Formats: sequence, structure tokens, C-alpha cells
Amino acid sequence: MTANMDHLYWVGPRLSDIASIPHLFHGAIVLSGKQGGHGLDTHILESVTRRRLNTNNPVNDGRINKHYIDSTKAVLKHDPAAVFLWYSAPPVEIDTEIGERSPFNVESGLYQRLSNKLSVRTELANWIDVIPTIELDGQDITIENLKGLFPGYGRFVIQSTFGSGGFGTWLVSSTTDISRVASGYGMLVSPYMDHCLPVNQHVIITDHGSVPLLPSVQFIQERDGRLLYQGCDYSLVDQLGAHLVDDISQTSERISRFVRGVGLRGVFGVDYLVTTAGELIFVEINPRFQGSTAALNASLTEQQCPSVQEMHMAAFQGRSIKPPGPLRPYSTVIFLNEDNDEIELQEERFFELGTPDHRVSEFNVDRLKLHVLTDHAGGTIHCDAGAPRHRYVVDRPVTTITENHQVHGLPAFQAQTISASGFSEEITRDDVANVAKLKFELFSLGITVDQSALGQLAGRGHGLTIRDGIAGGLELLLFDDIHVNVPFKESFSFLSPFSLHWSQNDGFSITYGKRRIVSCRVLPLPGYVGKTSSSGNAFVDIGQIFTDRLGVYPFRSCAYNARNKKACKFCEIGYQTPLAPVPIDDLSELVDECLSDRKSQIRHILVSGGVPSKQRWSYLVDSIKRIRVLTDMPIYQMLEPPEDMSRIEELKHAGVDEVGFNLELFNREIAERLMPGKGLVSLQKYVDTLKRAKELWPEFGAVRSLLIVGLEPLEDTLQGVEELADLGVMPILSPFRPVPGTELAHRVPPTGEFMYQAWDASQRICDQRGITLGPLCVACQNNTITVPVNEHYRYY
Ligand code: SF4
Repeated sequence: MTANMDHLYWVGPRLSDIASIPHLFHGAIVLSGKQGGHGLDTHILESVTRRRLNTNNPVNDGRINKHYIDSTKAVLKHDPAAVFLWYSAPPVEIDTEIGERSPFNVESGLYQRLSNKLSVRTELANWIDVIPTIELDGQDITIENLKGLFPGYGRFVIQSTFGSGGFGTWLVSSTTDISRVASGYGMLVSPYMDHCLPVNQHVIITDHGSVPLLPSVQFIQERDGRLLYQGCDYSLVDQLGAHLVDDISQTSERISRFVRGVGLRGVFGVDYLVTTAGELIFVEINPRFQGSTAALNASLTEQQCPSVQEMHMAAFQGRSIKPPGPLRPYSTVIFLNEDNDEIELQEERFFELGTPDHRVSEFNVDRLKLHVLTDHAGGTIHCDAGAPRHRYVVDRPVTTITENHQVHGLPAFQAQTISASGFSEEITRDDVANVAKLKFELFSLGITVDQSALGQLAGRGHGLTIRDGIAGGLELLLFDDIHVNVPFKESFSFLSPFSLHWSQNDGFSITYGKRRIVSCRVLPLPGYVGKTSSSGNAFVDIGQIFTDRLGVYPFRSCAYNARNKKACKFCEIGYQTPLAPVPIDDLSELVDECLSDRKSQIRHILVSGGVPSKQRWSYLVDSIKRIRVLTDMPIYQMLEPPEDMSRIEELKHAGVDEVGFNLELFNREIAERLMPGKGLVSLQKYVDTLKRAKELWPEFGAVRSLLIVGLEPLEDTLQGVEELADLGVMPILSPFRPVPGTELAHRVPPTGEFMYQAWDASQRICDQRGITLGPLCVACQNNTITVPVNEHYRYY
């Protein structure tokens, strides 16, 4: 049959599956979608039944297939030239005419054969590593039996032979878990392999070979004993490297020889697990389009490459397919409905989001394309538990693969699913646990700034901030003593459920969802904004005010930087365009300006802004001496442990009152990877330096070291807190913030819950040793995982 492509109909679960390629189609027969969406001739089950089905539940197969068959027949009546492209194999019940009008699809017998997990694993085990699997009847599935069959494992995956989306898949570790599993004959049992990455790859089989496409990390969450598919992220190549992607493609080629041999053409998906050693373990084949096809199409069409559907049809037509070049990774996040209930669906929307801070800067650049795919039929519908409420397709990574091979999703997305239960009431200062949670959730999720607040802040006549990076957020004060530097320029914050709002009666407040949860103040910008030194240097380029602390940057660059490939991968200073060192006279003028400006109210001074090169040491010491002459305020110096220990004494004599030698990461293996320069300084060197510093500045709190939370396992950070506390050094915890323009810009920040655990455990470690988690200065807690819980915390 010669297919008339002007009469092509898409047949599948959702209209949004073809959101980036509607122009290929004349119509669509789907379960969910907007009537007449994309100008297509649509046949939508939901618009009749007002019910969204869980398509992974086999109970619904009958009514889904009936809709597909009835609708294809109806289409053929008014459009005999119609041609159908199916998401999956057409149902076995289709008649000859529909079969003939479906020239691009797998015949159902072959589909069944390739979807049979056990038989495919058994066949492929001759060529590649496959997940160990045993078929058992329900009565033989006991936890003792499973432990005997798979020695060394404590958790097991039980699956039906067919089934997808996690619906027929259970994770069990006890007799109670097993009692919840659907019993029956011929269940498949495999060991649950911890720390393995779930990966999927589309492959197109042609008459002549196969074309593997970009693989993705699958986002799978455990919920009520089930392993549910919740999205995918195509940044695998960026996160794990081209080498792994090559390995995956080569293994898929070998699998392709088998599926081609049994007669498959067009698209299929392969699921793998990747072990921490980088080995690939085959899990299953799905001979159809994938849940991740929409995100892959977004990348392909952006590069003007043929979509997966076009390559699939080309394979059936015997045409050759050119493998696409490098693609920008897109991601999908699926929001599943928790219960069987009525839901109000929003219109499908597309956003291009950016920072509300219009200050020109090389780090103030984050953008986010967000496509909210609701497949709404309009109004309220009944939504089954486990059915997708909506999906996001975004033009950037939404997961991080952690050091121990776990997939962490962007907390901002998770917050969208818990928004009903997050912060439901106004928060009071005496509820310390909730105040801490709020502060840490603000670090993790960031904040949006609504129009009312923007209107008020515009009156400041400058951007909303004067700096970028790790503490480049909005300076908020909650109650009288909770300082928080809240991210709002980073793309994850564009999706935050928190919003800054202003009203005539109440001033500024923070809302969560639509609820007002706490009032706040936005701290003013320093009075020196817009002013310059007599040599013409802008004061904002020489120093910044963090609440009551003036930070001066004599060097305006770091010896470890992007040019020598030694920059710490999370730090904006290493990536910034270096400026010439500041003349000492300029530093002196800035300090003078701040001392005379009553609005600034500085109480102490930090000297930092990058590790100085060896040649600049005397300049650093001279700068400190000059500041010392101007004021008797405490001077705090942050620096790397110097090779020559006598330099610490020089600092003491120059007038430094407090020193910080920041470990950043206690796990030195991770430190070496994320800090190719500074990370090479040994732990012993830090210990020796901190001990010497303690001899020079014995008062508790004068010697500090900062650890970043969220870039290493929590146990490592806590071990670091213990070691520092044992030395009598004040530990300070700082949240990892993915700064635009740095190498870790796409890494997901830690969750508020993770920070809370870090804070809680660190407090206990410090309490046991009779010390206090830093910083003691309440205003300097704006970007630290600390809450002023006792009288040791104070303003300077
Ligand atoms: S050494 Fe310090 S200033 Fe330099 S890149 Fe690393 S964290 Fe940033």
C-alpha cells in the first residue's frame, strides 16, 4: 500500500505525545487531549467519558482498545484514505481494513513475543549481561525462598511477564510486602540491584542496520511498594560521559541484530541498569514508542532533525536514516494522580522563564523553556489513581546522578506534587523546627517574585541584587533574626511554590502555593551602589555587603580558575572574567564610604574573593593592614591553607581577628573531582593549619571551616563536622547552590529535608562537644544551614 501521508492519524494514549510534531498528522485518536487540539481531526475518549484512565492497568485494556477500534472505523468511513500510526502495536481485534491502513506497525504476534520479559532475557543472555530472573508461582514466593535463590540480596523485584510503567512491578523485602503483591502463576522474580542507574534508549531498526538514539536516565520512584516511571532526563551524556553512551549504543546494536532477525522494523526501546562499575545489565525491550519519546522529539525538532515518528516511518518505507548529531538534552517529569478523584485540568501552557533581576552580569543568565502538557478535555474530570495529571517537558536536566549512583530529581518538581501538604499555615518564630524547615526549603526551591513585589523593588533604581553566585539571591529577613539569601535567578527557582508578594496593608510576605505563610523584609541595597572610587572602579566590583558584613575582594579573581581548568566546579569566582586587582587606595575608599554611610550599618569585615597567586601575598597583607588602620571592627580572612605556615602569623600581625580555612568537601576523592585545584590540598594539611590557627586565635569561633551540603553523602559531611568540632574549630554548613555559568549549573540542589538532617545531626555533634554550629553572627547565617536557637548566636 502506498501511504498517503496527508491523511496520517496518530493513535495512542495522549495528544501531547505529538506536541512537537503535530504538522505530520491530519488527525489523532487518543484517550486524552484537547478536542480539535493543534487543529487536528481529534477523536478523544476522555471528552466522552470524562474519566482519565491509568493506561498501565490491564483492567482498562478492553475499553481503550474499543475506543481505538471504533474511532479508526469511524475515521475510515469519512476518510477512506486515512493511514494510522500507532503508539504501540494495534490491538489483535482490528479488522483487515484497519490493518491494511496501518502500514507502520508491529504485527501483534511479534509485539507479544518481544514484550515477554522472560523469553527475551533468556534469549539475550547468550550475548549480553541480563538481569537474573526466575519464574515462580505465587505460593513459592517467600522471602526465605528469594534470599536462597539470590544470595546476598535483601530486596527483590516481582513482575508480571508483561506490563509497563511499573504497574505490574513490585519491590519487596518482607513477608508483609509479598502479601500485597498480586499472586498468580508465572511471576518473574529478580534481585533489586542497589545503586544501579535505570537507562533507556530508543533504537530504530531499518532494513540495513540500526540507529541508536540518545539514551536517557529514567526517573523511577518507589511508591507503596511499586516502582513507578515518573520521567526521564536526556543529560546522561553530560553527566556520565560519552564513553558510557558509546557502550550503551554498542550493546543496543547487538540487541538490534536479534530483534531485526525476528522481523522487527522501526522504533523500539531498551531498558538497562548501569552498575557503579559502568557495566550494562539488560532489563527489557519495548517494541513501541516510549514514554520518553516526546522529550526526545523536543531535542530532535529543535535541531531540525527528523522526529522519532519520522525515522520510524522511514524505516518501514525502506529509506535510510541519518543518525542525528549532538542534541540539547530535554527532560520530562510526569505527575501521577495519587487517588481516584475529580481533578480540574488547566490549559496546556508554554513558558519561557527567566530571572526577574535585569542587572547585566555574566551569571545572571538562566532561562527555562517549560511546556506543561495537560491533555485536558476542558473542565473537571475523574482521574484514576496512577494516571498522569500532567507532564512537564523542559529544556534542561532535572536530575543529578549522585556519587553513589542514585538519581535525584529537582526538588522544585517534587514540591509541585506536595504543594497541598507543604506549608499550610502561617509560621511562627517559636516553632523552631518549622522555621528551620522553611529556611532550608527556601534554599532548596528558591522563590519567584510576583508583580506586586517587583513593582515595589523596582523603586530601588538598581537591579534586585548586587551580586551573583553562591549568595546572589534576594536578601530576606523573616521575623527579626532569620536572615535568608533566597535563590531567585537560578532556573530551578522559576518553578518554586514560594513567591514574594507585597500588599499595601501587610508589606512583603512569602506565599506557598497561594497561601501566605510568613511576612518578611527585603533588605535594602547598600548606599554605595552606583558610586565609584576616585580611580573609577565601581564600588560594587570591589566589595559587597552581606547584611552587616562588608566583604572586600582585593583580587577579583582566583588562582584556580576556568582558564587553567582548576576552578572549583560550583564557584562563580573561578568562572568569572578576571578584573585587575584593586588598588589598595580603592579598598580604603570603599571601607571609608561604608563607615560613613549610616544606611550600611556594617559591623565586621571579610577579606576574600578568591585564592591569591603566590606573587600577590604581600599585597594581601598590605590590604589588611590598611583596613586595620581605618577601623577596629573585626576582620575575617578566608583563605586556602598556605604552604608556608608562617604566613598565618603574618595575618595575625596584620590585624586579622578571625580566619576560615574552608574544607568545602570532607570526602577528598569527591573534593579532587569537583575542585581540581583546591581539592588537592590534603586533609592533613587542613588539620595542621587549623591547629596552628587555633594556637594563634584560641577563642572559640575565631577559627572556622565551611562544608558544602549537597555535593557529597551526608555521612561524609557529618564526619567533617565531627573532625572540625574535635579540633575546637567552628564548623559552618553552606547549602550547595547550582550557579548559572559554573560547571555544576545543572546539578540539582539538595532538598530541604536533606539540609534539615544535616543541621539536626550537626547540632547534636556540636552539643556533645560543647561547641556551637557556626556562624555565631545571626546576620551571617543568610546563606548557611543554621538557625539561631540559643544565646550563643548574636549580632556583632
Ligand atoms: S578556591 Fe575558592 S574562590 Fe577559588 S574557585 Fe575554589 S571556591 Fe572559588
